[in-house]
Amino acid sequence: MLLTGLRRPSGGVASDRYLCNQEILWNVFPGRHYFSNRWSINFGLSKVNLPFAGRWLALDLDDTLLLGSFTCADDWGDLGGAGSGFVKGSMAVDWWASLRRWLRGSPELVPCKHRHPYLNHPLVEVAFRPALLEGLAELKALGLGLVLVTASARQRVDYLCLRFPFFGELFRGPLGHVITAEDMVELQLEAVQLADTIDDPASAAAHRLRPRSLAVKTPWAVSRACGIPSYDLLIDDSKTTAEVFDQAGLNDRLLYIEGRHPWSGYGVGILDAAVRRLLGEIPADGHGAPLPCLREWQEVPAGIPVPPKIEDPLYFPLLHYSDQF
Ligand SMILES: [Mg+2]
Repeated sequence: MLLTGLRRPSGGVASDRYLCNQEILWNVFPGRHYFSNRWSINFGLSKVNLPFAGRWLALDLDDTLLLGSFTCADDWGDLGGAGSGFVKGSMAVDWWASLRRWLRGSPELVPCKHRHPYLNHPLVEVAFRPALLEGLAELKALGLGLVLVTASARQRVDYLCLRFPFFGELFRGPLGHVITAEDMVELQLEAVQLADTIDDPASAAAHRLRPRSLAVKTPWAVSRACGIPSYDLLIDDSKTTAEVFDQAGLNDRLLYIEGRHPWSGYGVGILDAAVRRLLGEIPADGHGAPLPCLREWQEVPAGIPVPPKIEDPLYFPLLHYSDQF
């Protein structure tokens, strides 16, 4: 399978899903209609005037919707948990491993697994970005379709849906779709085969710029996978996606965000920017840089509880180290 080559060798990391708490977290989100009230206050809009019916929002998973202790380690402690303890710059370096990596073309320093034994079996914890799922549920209730487009494997997405049924529900039904890494592989292979017949020139350009990439989530690919006309906007933290979209002329379809800021109101900022982009109130930034207005949201809105963290035993076993296969 084409994805296997992008993954860590099996057995490298403990992946026993039964080691972790399997509690299903249904009732962790506040009552619905939180955002609809705020929305009218924030934007002076009434529900009936929101032109969301027939429109689609595509969303990346990791570091967009879902925050992990491994990628947000610097900020993770604020939630009161131990996190992974992975803090670059403060860890002992394995100089031989770093040299080997440097010779392969990657200058990154490798932390020493002897001095930090948990790196052999790292605990990865994840939580959804505060307020984001609640806001998306509100937008879906207003007619906006939601597509999850992730480079993560279906097995892991299924696991997260099992633990967070609310999350799974967002992407089910007539207004929901899920595209996983396995689907992306098929789509990217089709994009190579059908290159000359792709009817969207910007999508065709993106697939030509970076073929066989899990990060090139074009409107054409999503439309083909889901049977929807196209998406109006993709929210993603991937620099690769931003660069390819920038070069291919797809900036008007991308809301590029920063993957960090876990315990802040950044999720509200993302919703704010997405709605404004959908309504045409703010233009695309055009240079693959996160919108400055996103940084204004520091505080998690009152009434939104701290999201629960869960262990994610499939994060490392199913992690893909490159977007290209
Ligand atoms: Mg991401």
